[in-house]
Amino acid sequence: MTTLQSYIAGRWQGAGGSGTELRSAIDGRLLGTASSAALDFAEVVRYGREDAGPRLRALTFQQRAAMLRALAAYLGERKAPLYALSFETGATRKDHLIDIDGGIGTLFSYASKARRELPDERFVVEGDVEPLSKGGTFVGRHILTPLQGVAIQVNAFNFPCWGMLEKLAPAFLAGVPSIVKPATATAYLAHALFQSIVESGILPDGAVQLVVGSLGNLLDHLDGQDVISFTGSLETSLLLRNHPVVATKAVRFIAERDSLNAAILGPDAAPGTPEFDLFIRETSREMTVKAGQKCTAIRRALVPRSAWDAASAALVERMRGVVVGDPKLENVSMGPLSSLAQRDEVRARAAELATAARVLFGDPLHCDPVGADAERGAFLSPLLFACEYPLNAPSVHQIEAFGPVSTLMPYDGVDEAIEIAKMGGGSLVASIYTHDRNVADALVFGIASHHGRLIAIDRDCAKESTGHGSPLPPLVHGGPGRAGGGEEMGGLRGVFHYMQRTALQGSPSRLSELTRVWLRGAPEIEKPEHPFRYPFEELEIGQTIHTGGRTIGLDDIERFAEFTGDTFYAHMDEEAARANPFFPGRVAHGYLLLSFAAGLFVEPSPGPVLANYGLDELRFFKPVVPGDTIRVRLTVKQKTARKPEYGEVRWDVEITNQNGETVAAYDLLTMNATKDGEPAWPERAARELAATP
Ligand code: NAP
Repeated sequence: MTTLQSYIAGRWQGAGGSGTELRSAIDGRLLGTASSAALDFAEVVRYGREDAGPRLRALTFQQRAAMLRALAAYLGERKAPLYALSFETGATRKDHLIDIDGGIGTLFSYASKARRELPDERFVVEGDVEPLSKGGTFVGRHILTPLQGVAIQVNAFNFPCWGMLEKLAPAFLAGVPSIVKPATATAYLAHALFQSIVESGILPDGAVQLVVGSLGNLLDHLDGQDVISFTGSLETSLLLRNHPVVATKAVRFIAERDSLNAAILGPDAAPGTPEFDLFIRETSREMTVKAGQKCTAIRRALVPRSAWDAASAALVERMRGVVVGDPKLENVSMGPLSSLAQRDEVRARAAELATAARVLFGDPLHCDPVGADAERGAFLSPLLFACEYPLNAPSVHQIEAFGPVSTLMPYDGVDEAIEIAKMGGGSLVASIYTHDRNVADALVFGIASHHGRLIAIDRDCAKESTGHGSPLPPLVHGGPGRAGGGEEMGGLRGVFHYMQRTALQGSPSRLSELTRVWLRGAPEIEKPEHPFRYPFEELEIGQTIHTGGRTIGLDDIERFAEFTGDTFYAHMDEEAARANPFFPGRVAHGYLLLSFAAGLFVEPSPGPVLANYGLDELRFFKPVVPGDTIRVRLTVKQKTARKPEYGEVRWDVEITNQNGETVAAYDLLTMNATKDGEPAWPERAARELAATP
């Protein structure tokens, strides 16, 4: 038996005290003890804030993304010992995929999102420039910078790996050190994962600390630069949120709490339709995956009253097929709950539910697990309840039995289904099963305000659907009201929870310098050679060329029309073009302007520009008529390192006519080669930084 140590200030530290016993969910075997009694929590916070924070903030997003990717790959090769330990939490092989593979997948997903969507900088520029003056000399823009505190991540017992990694990835990318506090009951698995993270040596010192056991007086040491990201029960979230320091110092608080999620079978989805079958399959699966210990599990299954008998019979039939037992056995489809205490808790909640609903399937006090001892392991039969009049039974919408427990309830009409779903008081997710556009419309817009995620499952998406219960890194996870009012993940949104948004005001020149993004009105830099001759590192933001002019004749327009096949009347028919409210007569094609602009600004010989890979923000402001002369200004707007061999250059392109009026403007994106041997790219820089003592 081992006493699990915490990982604080870059080293494993002793537990102190006798500690809480951690036992196998399968047979109650003692696996270890957990205690944080010996930890100095002031030092935990100080180390994160003062030692680790500056180290982490010195890295750019691209460097952090490269590290996250390397960590995901490292962990991906070390799953086997985690699987072995995960059985002890009661997880089956399929459950491992959600917790362990799902957690590692979240790291990969965040690493690649950051790589594609974040700059090679230490801050983010958000949204457009806001003009704030008539003369254009005073503008505003938002920036996001990392908070200079720590991220306290308090996790629930049900997903020891996924829960840790889905919180850690966005905080790390933001540049904020994490203090991970796993739930004690399954801390042995979180501890094993954390050991791998430490052994990898990939993250900078102090980027992550682990507290095994209670948080002690850690909250007393927080301030407004810190973030608490909590997953767990309503009661604990209130304790943390109402802590005097958290409340007084406005410590950011993100809460993911319990949720009585609904699945709604549409009135069109009668027995025999694919949607009816999908509803039955999803509801029964959600009851049994992770033995129903999922915050997103379906707790309330709503069916039209006309489908009541068929739905009850089909669900009971599915429940009969569930094999409860030792999760290591191949034929077992549902393992035990995570601990005997948790089983007692679910039995107590089920007893409360039984006062408002009748049992359709299962016995809360009896279970015959395959290959295991019913007394020593935390086994529980799936419990399906029926509540015939849910509008009159508030408790079925309030009692969360965090196990394989769900209540079937009928509704009369879509409006009533909406009312019932909303009685959950705010939920993480709801799924709707319909192939009828009007039903989907009424349900989605009837309940979206009360949900963080909605999934419309039908025959068209079922095969590839990720299912009711899976939160995904690019989509938000969280819900209003009872679900905690928090939001996690959701792509970069999740990263920004750990950053401060600041409105920045000043001249275009000052804001260009500060944001490293050239703004119109800021000085232009002229250099002796064409900008296409400079490798990525040597291009300067603001570097500009102005081209000569090109006069566009009617013959150009006709030739372009003939060559491309675009003979739209506005280019070909004077009378019809005149009748159009936007045109004075025949006008040049927009695409002709873009092509001629490229003809004006490119430097044709081989050089650092490798490829044009798109345009953003293209707008045509003024028509160009035969006889007009266009010119182009091409300015380096922003640079983002992408790979060792090349980086992305965003160019500000403005096409003007002979009167100096802007006729078109856009961002041009090119990939530009780096100079041989220059370490401008994230991977190498990240490696160098990691190797620095
Ligand atoms: P819990 O008792 O609230 O525990 C959650 C976490 O809070 C654990 O790490 C726990 O540590 C810690 N904690 C407890 N008391 C604390 C205190 N006084 N100060 C600081 N930390 C404290 O919840 P649970 O029973 O483990 O988890 C089940 C609940 O979580 C269910 O209600 C479920 O719906 C919810 N949940 C929500 C989500 C979501 O994403 N919304 C996901 C999973 C679960 P110890 O283990 O050391 O006590």
